[in-house]
Amino acid sequence: MVDLIHQRCFNHAGREAAAQCPRCGRFYCRECITEHDGRIVCAPCLEALLAPEPARRPLVTAPLRGLQLAAGVAILWLVVYGLGRALTAIPAAFHDGTLLRSSWWENL
Ligand SMILES: [Zn+2]
Ligand SMILES: [Zn+2]
Repeated sequence: MVDLIHQRCFNHAGREAAAQCPRCGRFYCRECITEHDGRIVCAPCLEALLAPEPARRPLVTAPLRGLQLAAGVAILWLVVYGLGRALTAIPAAFHDGTLLRSSWWENL
């Protein structure tokens, strides 16, 4: 155990440490340290202890995300497929320029 007398509060450099936080190992004065569940902890650590655990992703979201991705791919495929169908539906005359050739400026 480190001698508390020679330690200073982490927050107050002018104050002697009253306790060492067992969680982070820093020294704090009486004002900065608090008790939680019979243990002495500093304010930041108490906050961390009381804060809800980082939200664990429910297992449901994993397949749901896959479903969303599949749906996105399916929609994209349908759009591309529809576009392809639309393009093939256009008469071949449009592609070889016969439609353009018969436009008005050809007859000038
Ligand atoms: Zn602490
Ligand atoms: Zn302090």
